[in-house]
Amino acid sequence: MFDKDTLAIIGDGECGYESAVSPPIFQTSTFGGGGEYSYTRLSNPTRSQLERELASLERGSYALAFSSGLAALNTLLSTLSQGDRVLLSDDLYGGTYRMAANIFSRFGISFEFVDPSDPNAVENAIDANTRMLFVESPTNPMMKIAPISELARICREGSVLLAVDNTFLTPYFQNPLLLGADIVLHSATKFLSGHHDTVAGALVTDNEPLYEKLRLATVTLGNALSPFDSWLTLRGIRTLPLRMERHQKNALSVAEYLQSCDWVEKVIYPGLPAHEGHSLCASQASGFGGVVSFTVKDTKTVKKLLAGGKIIKFAESLGGFRSLITYPLTQTHASIPEAMRNRIGITEKLLRLSLGLEDENDIKQDLELMIKS
Ligand SMILES: *Cc1c(COP(=O)(O)O)cnc(C)c1O
Repeated sequence: MFDKDTLAIIGDGECGYESAVSPPIFQTSTFGGGGEYSYTRLSNPTRSQLERELASLERGSYALAFSSGLAALNTLLSTLSQGDRVLLSDDLYGGTYRMAANIFSRFGISFEFVDPSDPNAVENAIDANTRMLFVESPTNPMMKIAPISELARICREGSVLLAVDNTFLTPYFQNPLLLGADIVLHSATKFLSGHHDTVAGALVTDNEPLYEKLRLATVTLGNALSPFDSWLTLRGIRTLPLRMERHQKNALSVAEYLQSCDWVEKVIYPGLPAHEGHSLCASQASGFGGVVSFTVKDTKTVKKLLAGGKIIKFAESLGGFRSLITYPLTQTHASIPEAMRNRIGITEKLLRLSLGLEDENDIKQDLELMIKS
């Protein structure tokens, strides 16, 4: 088995078509000749190439690529039936919450929120109708760490599928399937594609019957990734190892810098030894990622930071080459009810930084200038 650095480069080991080193984009909706491919909604060679590479990077057997992270999620949830119950991380991407609360709950699927860092609470929440536990680790935006192996054991005993959203750490730093998870979800919009130019998603699993169900679902729902976006994601993956190392280096450096700033109240980054989940994260992943959340002492500081600097841009999303600052309260987590936001800690003082690939000292200087403005 190749190292992950090599896997990102050589993919599944063969590109096939006329020995092209970069795989071609099969920009066609339909195929004649009655061969393996017939219609791009069902399958497409460029997308298949990406799916093979995603499976190999996640150390799984099967992968599917979708038109967004949320398209991956709606396909996963579409395998459930009326009366089924799902446990969700109480701290998670706002769009995931919205899909559960506003769409699937109308079809008789019920959702309950649990703290994924508390295995006893998870175990107690499982009942006869519970079909799935869906967690992020680290969570977005509070960066809580879930004990994936322990949750996998609890889920197996209860015949519950464990799904892990691995967007923040990517397969470069964490492989939830190797820790016992049944399914991995990605917003490939973020680190996997990495260039702020693609919206994409993925599911990876070792469970063949589940994969067949998911494949039939995406073909039926019609939400698979386009050939061009599959190609962009493949291109992003080639530099994933290099980028993740740099994102992480910048994140740790900026997290340490923020800790030293008198206008900062608290820095939340699992790479800091003081973080509650630091050693757990280190035990199940090989890195801590490129996202840092923090709270400020005075809400007036928020305005200065959101005005943006010369480097850091105020924008949604994360995981690209450019450093971005996000205000979860009004952006990514606006759809979460106020009481729940307050309980989790998504307050008017919370900000989230996705560290890009710029020079770490320039980023820190940019923050300094924003505060002085
Ligand atoms: C962005 C994000 C999603 C949703 O992905 P899209 O590609 O925007 O649909 C899901 N989970 C996490 C953790 C995310 O950051």
